[in-house]
Amino acid sequence: MDDRQDTKDAKDAPEARDAPGAKDVPGAPEGPAGSTAVPSEPDGASRENPGPAGAGGDGESGDGAGGDGEKRRLRWEAGAALAVLGAVIVAVVAFTTPWQALAAGAPDVTPDPARDFTAAQIARAAAFDAATSVPSYLSYGLGILFAGVLVLTPFGTRLLGRLKGPWWLRVILGVLLLTALVQALRWPLGMWFEVRLREYGLSTQDWAAWTGDRLKSMGVNIVLLSIMALAVVALARKVRRWWIPAAAGAFTLTVVASFVYPVVFEPLFNDFHSMPEGSLRTNLLAMAERDGVPVEDVLVADASRRTTALNAYVSGFGATRRIVVYDTLLKAPQAEVELVAAHELGHAARRDVLNGTLVGALGAAFGAVLLFLAFDLVRRRAKVASLADPRAVGVLLGLMSLAGVLSGPAQNAISRHVEARADVHALDLTKDPVTFVAMQKRLAATNISDLSPDPVEYLLYASHPSTPERIALARAWAGLNGVPAP
Ligand SMILES: [Zn+2]
Repeated sequence: MDDRQDTKDAKDAPEARDAPGAKDVPGAPEGPAGSTAVPSEPDGASRENPGPAGAGGDGESGDGAGGDGEKRRLRWEAGAALAVLGAVIVAVVAFTTPWQALAAGAPDVTPDPARDFTAAQIARAAAFDAATSVPSYLSYGLGILFAGVLVLTPFGTRLLGRLKGPWWLRVILGVLLLTALVQALRWPLGMWFEVRLREYGLSTQDWAAWTGDRLKSMGVNIVLLSIMALAVVALARKVRRWWIPAAAGAFTLTVVASFVYPVVFEPLFNDFHSMPEGSLRTNLLAMAERDGVPVEDVLVADASRRTTALNAYVSGFGATRRIVVYDTLLKAPQAEVELVAAHELGHAARRDVLNGTLVGALGAAFGAVLLFLAFDLVRRRAKVASLADPRAVGVLLGLMSLAGVLSGPAQNAISRHVEARADVHALDLTKDPVTFVAMQKRLAATNISDLSPDPVEYLLYASHPSTPERIALARAWAGLNGVPAP
């Protein structure tokens, strides 16, 4: 529930900051098309047998093991569960998403960058967008290409076939190898992007800090992906209907990761301290109380070690919920900081992180069942018979990565509605659309936000409405509430 205006500068950021903690993480495997130096291997049945699968047995392991009727029945069951889960997700999303930000009767205000920004500002935003688009799209495309290679060719299976050791070690090494490979391939694109950020004065990092961030975020990815891959392979080795515990596990892991995210993962990337005593802190806490949102503290992150961009966010829920503002934001006029905080209070008041976590967790469970079904469709192409085989980790990571890519636009579309509601909450709370617009203009100018994102960018990256849309919303709010429009 990040307030970043500019969607694009986030893509290469090390933190996976947006709401359900784990949601962003499984985007691991990404990379190149075929390295071809891998010797071919005998096809078909896994080199490794799932082994004696105690009571209730395996059966799903090799091609042709278990009767065809039995297999069909297992698939039918999983398909039915998938349909039910899908329906539940649609229902929860339909129920929790604020489709209409403003009450009926609000005037129609057309977003228009030229009304609030100078020609020079608009030109600078367009130039920055053009300068960062190429590395962004290349990185995105590389991710899809690498995932596609892992899923649709034997490349990953053959590469991981060279690993030695017990199955669990090979799973971990497989995750490590593929994550490192994709990072290595994306590294130059990340540097290219970072150079652009520096040219435009948005980055304050040197290469050592930049590299440290990237390696830390890779480490977090490897740990989380290893946990997931170990769980899937272990279950596939033991349980015929492994999608049931896998779905329950994916749900639980997502909830736990989102809950502990602020206290376990965020401190890896930033230091936090309580906002110092003073009128700003007093006013923010008073505003929270007026809003009926219990807030004991507002944290300040040392974001200036990385960026000049302005931002604030809410993360965690229950005991870990926190409102964080970037230290860069504190230089803005106090009234504008209060408006940013009012927006974050909107997220807290409507339990947006908790709702997002619920949808994310259901999505993860859905993904686990889908994995069970989708694996069957691609295993012959990938030349690995079963997910009980550690060599199948490539297919597993590839499918997870593709699921992330495919669900991204839907997640963004939901997020934009949630963000619009938080804006309306801030306006209702402060009744100050003039400062709201001033704050939006400051954020956009400082963060060099894209003032007129093209439809593809909007679909792929925009977790927030564009700045002109947010300003138009404030004007519509003013019209609806009989307050002079800015
Ligand atoms: Zn927000």
